[in-house]
Amino acid sequence: MNEKISAVINSIKDAENILLTGHISPDGDNLGSMLALKLMMEQLGKKTTIIIDDSIPDCFTFLPNIEEVQQYEEGLTVDVDLIVVVDSSNLERIARVQELVTEQIVINIDHHEDNNLFGDYNLVAEVAATVELIYNIQQEMKEVELTSEIATVLATGLITDTGSFRYSNTTSLTHQIMAELLNYGVDPSLIAKHVLETNSYQNLILRGKVLQDLQVDSTGKIAWLKVSREMLEEVGAELEDTEGLVNYPRTLKGAEVGVLFKEVEEQEIRVGLRSNNYLKVNQVADLFGGGGHPRAAGCTINLKLEEVEKEVIRAIKEQLAKDK
Ligand code: AMP
Ligand code: MN
Ligand code: MN
Repeated sequence: MNEKISAVINSIKDAENILLTGHISPDGDNLGSMLALKLMMEQLGKKTTIIIDDSIPDCFTFLPNIEEVQQYEEGLTVDVDLIVVVDSSNLERIARVQELVTEQIVINIDHHEDNNLFGDYNLVAEVAATVELIYNIQQEMKEVELTSEIATVLATGLITDTGSFRYSNTTSLTHQIMAELLNYGVDPSLIAKHVLETNSYQNLILRGKVLQDLQVDSTGKIAWLKVSREMLEEVGAELEDTEGLVNYPRTLKGAEVGVLFKEVEEQEIRVGLRSNNYLKVNQVADLFGGGGHPRAAGCTINLKLEEVEKEVIRAIKEQLAKDK
């Protein structure tokens, strides 16, 4: 057995009370990883708690046991001897849940190349999704049965982090794991219906509005969209209704990079970055204190929307000169 996996398994077996957490703006990969671990640990008789510093997007409320994910509240305390952090390149990504990290042993399970190995045990590998690593752990735990619930949450992570097996992070191993999960009762059409093929009314209306104002630089390589507070108010939408928009600009013919700027507050802009073939968007995000993967990254910048737009597009142009 891979010694990093056996170290993780041993510390799980040695623990009694375990806290599971993951990054803010939760996605299918971190929710799937935490829920699968919880179900696996329960089979071992462990007491587990999941806490994240954010709410759960509607599209994931169908996941088995999702009601077990608690939202962090100021002053909350836990009595645990082990903390497992999933899908997060550094501890800052779990936001206020950091306040619960004191003397406990920390396990870091992740697939971001900029992971800073913050754990006492680090299971970090360049795979398409963190759920691949959770699947590897399950395969090595002889006492833990792969149930249809575990298979479903793992498959959701694979589907969301690979864009349904279309992104360049997809490997033959990703497909092999998915094939195996399908043998355990996963319904891929149900997952797809919830996470990919259901949009709120506000999302569709907002999409129309936002796409009308598509911006493109003079070379045609950078395309971007902006969602201001004003636009959200006009259609009665929430930030959550921007789901999926980040993927549009990079589909413009000839574009290499697509960007989505979201105005969370007047001086708090969330930037989503996507590239097609060669531009390392995580290096651009890193300049602004963010991170991610070479083809999908993000950051939050505390400036006005117009300033953020100018700064980020300028940084992308510089990165384009390096990566071309
Ligand atoms: P998103 O555009 O929010 O879907 O994020 C794309 C990728 O970038 C994901 O892998 C995130 O984990 C990562 N990411 C997004 N925002 C940040 C941030 N502020 N800091 C570090 N990584 C981020
Ligand atoms: Mn994630
Ligand atoms: Mn992930």
